[in-house]
Amino acid sequence: MFFYFYIHYFMAKGTIHVTAENIFPIIKKFLYSDKEIFLREIISNAIDATLKFKKLFQLGEAGEAKEEITETKIEIKINKKEKTLHIIDEGIGMSIKEIDKYINKIAFSGAEEFISKYKDQEIIGHFGLGFYSAFMVSDKVEIFSKSYIKDIPPAYWCSSGTPIFILEEGNKKERGTEIVLHINKDSKEFLDASRIHMLLKKYCKYMPVPIKFGDSEEKETKIKDDNIINDPTPVWTKNPLFLKEKDYKDFYSKIFPTELDGPLFWIHLNIEHPFHLTGILYFPKLKNQIEIHKKKIHLYKNQVFVTDNVEGIVPEFLHLLRGIIDSPDIPLNVSRSNLQADEAVKKISGYIIRKVAEKFSSIINNNRALFEKKWEDIKIIIEHGMLSEEKFFRKANDFFLYSTVDGRYFTFDEFTEKIRVTHKNKENNKLIYLYSSNKETQHSYIKIAKDKSYEVLLLDSPLSPHLIQKLEVNHKDIFFTRVDSDTIENLFKREEITISKLSENEKEILKKILSKTLDTHKFRLFLENLESRSFPFIITNPEFMRRMKDMSKTGVSKNTETLPDVYHLKVNINNEFIRKILKESNPYLQNQMIEKSLYLAMLSKNILAGEALSKFVARSFNELLYHQ
Ligand code: ADP
Repeated sequence: MFFYFYIHYFMAKGTIHVTAENIFPIIKKFLYSDKEIFLREIISNAIDATLKFKKLFQLGEAGEAKEEITETKIEIKINKKEKTLHIIDEGIGMSIKEIDKYINKIAFSGAEEFISKYKDQEIIGHFGLGFYSAFMVSDKVEIFSKSYIKDIPPAYWCSSGTPIFILEEGNKKERGTEIVLHINKDSKEFLDASRIHMLLKKYCKYMPVPIKFGDSEEKETKIKDDNIINDPTPVWTKNPLFLKEKDYKDFYSKIFPTELDGPLFWIHLNIEHPFHLTGILYFPKLKNQIEIHKKKIHLYKNQVFVTDNVEGIVPEFLHLLRGIIDSPDIPLNVSRSNLQADEAVKKISGYIIRKVAEKFSSIINNNRALFEKKWEDIKIIIEHGMLSEEKFFRKANDFFLYSTVDGRYFTFDEFTEKIRVTHKNKENNKLIYLYSSNKETQHSYIKIAKDKSYEVLLLDSPLSPHLIQKLEVNHKDIFFTRVDSDTIENLFKREEITISKLSENEKEILKKILSKTLDTHKFRLFLENLESRSFPFIITNPEFMRRMKDMSKTGVSKNTETLPDVYHLKVNINNEFIRKILKESNPYLQNQMIEKSLYLAMLSKNILAGEALSKFVARSFNELLYHQ
């Protein structure tokens, strides 16, 4: 927005004439609930001025400034009596001319533009309102400044939140700038040392210049440089080559002091091109407290805290990680919903995914035992990533570990190699990945499979059904099936088919007898030629329907939630007991034999409940009495 002065900078008084309505009343109301950000904005300017001076000093262009540059600091003071808050830096300073240019013109039009653009938008961390944000909390703001160039006289600027300002020669002796905020009566909280301390800890904890804070009354008794509230060189800004495990762990416990379990792994992010980004992402010990762990990645811009909401910047599956991401290239003045479409953000998100994948590949290659030990703690994050990010899914092929029911771990390729010959379905030539979702309840089925030397995977996470589906889509020649989805004979369709021990006629009679006793709504009946030593009755739960139901439990295809369980009753006509049933002439005893076999099959399938269970218990007690 265009504005101009009636009176030039060297005169004692001036008037800021703005073409639009003047912005001060708007600033006062703007971000009312978030007005604390003024402190971050003013201190950020002090940091910039200090860093600029340090740079000039390094380049030998800082004129006669000779003092020890590493001691340069920023000081925050409260003067309760005067109701003022002071931000004092030893930076580059400003001349009268510079104040006119930077404060009256650039900063003013910047603030004006910022307000007109973002007044009604939720933008990240409300970054960029700049110097004029001071008027959110102040009746009057003063600037005392002294340029680093020796001969330039000090400058003084003052404005009471109207377009009228004073700009004249000041009396500051030392290099740098002191901003004095005369805190207004609605903002008294900012004269409270504990409130300021809290804000400094929130926004300035890792700013790159030491920040000293102690209120003016105490000043005399404090030793020099005590009360530095920040760590100007946090671990993520350092070269990873010079850092030890302990440095990362110490930093973790510093940022998450309540976290007693240390981190499992960490990734030091460090990239210069095509964008600049540094940071550390820690993998915490997660278990089941997923929600509590959110908002633990903090976004910084040049060591200035921006927000703890990294939605849209860090891929969602990594929101359970903790740590810090610092990048000047993340656009902060866009609404969150537009973030994901931003090219820089897309690149950053892609980079983080790649780094996480590389980290896992490197750990599994260099320390397989460690990776296996920690696997169960990180599995859920990786599964989530595989399901939500295609690129990560492909990379995870190298490090996603499949556990067998007896606790051995394989990558996909290792496991495929192991079962390549033995797990082929002879009919469709597909490779069968047998799995269990619960070692306890599916125990008898696992045993049957293992007795026949088949490998059974344990896929027991809530995301497993979705992952299985995705793996099948990506590998056309494989098929996952739960151990209790059918009989082993049927699953593998081996060539060595067992000869039926019953004639067609006997089968028909058996069917009739069984249908009289069985609840055909619950079970579909199948007579099968299984091995004679296999159980007489086996209840199975066909893979497809059950999988639909499982998936509905974790979100997708909700409409299948009301589907009933489908059970198949496989009757092993080669088992001796079936022949006995067939031959039994007493219908009562015959019925009892069928029921008992059925109950036993239900027991091993863990579906013996309600009426069936009480009937079974009653009958078994009766029998105990009867046989004594
Ligand atoms: P921004 O920092 O985004 O440029 P600001 O409104 O915060 O916008 O500040 C405007 C300009 O005023 C800065 O770019 C800088 O040139 C100058 N300035 C503000 N504070 C200081 C300071 N403490 N020391 C030196 N220059 C400053």
